[in-house]
Amino acid sequence: MAPRPDSGFVYFVGAGPGDPELLTLRAFRLLRTADAILHDDLVSKEILACANPDATIENVGKRCGFRGISQEDINERMIEFAQCGLKVARLKGGDPSIFGRLAEEIAALAQAEISFEIVPGITAASAAAAAAKIPLTSRKSSSQLIFLTGHRAGGAPIEIPLPTTRDSTIAVYMPALEYKELAERFLAAGWPINTPCLVVSTASQSSQQILAGNLGDLRFRQRLPSPAVLILGNVVTGTRFAATNPAAACSFQGQS
Ligand code: SAH
Repeated sequence: MAPRPDSGFVYFVGAGPGDPELLTLRAFRLLRTADAILHDDLVSKEILACANPDATIENVGKRCGFRGISQEDINERMIEFAQCGLKVARLKGGDPSIFGRLAEEIAALAQAEISFEIVPGITAASAAAAAAKIPLTSRKSSSQLIFLTGHRAGGAPIEIPLPTTRDSTIAVYMPALEYKELAERFLAAGWPINTPCLVVSTASQSSQQILAGNLGDLRFRQRLPSPAVLILGNVVTGTRFAATNPAAACSFQGQS
């Protein structure tokens, strides 16, 4: 593709947690009109089905898509399309600004002098809380919300927040560790054994599953399928969840 003088434009589009009903209108419209769509693995096939049928669609996800693709390759691809004058949708799961390597991609576009816009999406923690029918904060019991990643660049260990106040909610994305190890890390940091927590897998999708219990129980549970997010804190207390698939919903309280 030969670069054209009328440089294109990149939209970082949040695809939300998987259910197309949870796309923003702007995300939907951009999907319908983009010339090129570069998407991550977590973007569901139902969402890709909303795309412009004439668009060039590439999976640049690092898990099961384009194996071996590096961040530099993704940046290059995005820039190459934009320099051909195309309208590019860089489609990321959830909200593009949360654990989505947005910083690297913005830096690459800035260097190539390509304009961009960020279209926010519904992040996994919000979708998980909605699935479990709980709030993420509460005036009475949760005054702060921490988004934590279980997976850091270079495999650096995650820093578990200290329970300095008991009124925080922690959402752990990419809980890479076994639940036992993760729960033990929280316990070692001083979190009480009865701290309520839940895990939501594939929130908003037909395969959605929810486990609810406390940190003590969590040590004995098997992992739910990826992607899954762990929510921990008082807001989880008294959850009255209804999974999309009721057979898949279960509580692990008292089952250890
Ligand atoms: N930008 C995304 C997060 C990307 S990191 C967002 O805002 O949601 C990828 C992690 O997000 C997964 O490992 C998982 O922890 C979480 N995640 C993404 N989609 C999810 C879903 N539908 N259900 C549960 N967790 C999800």
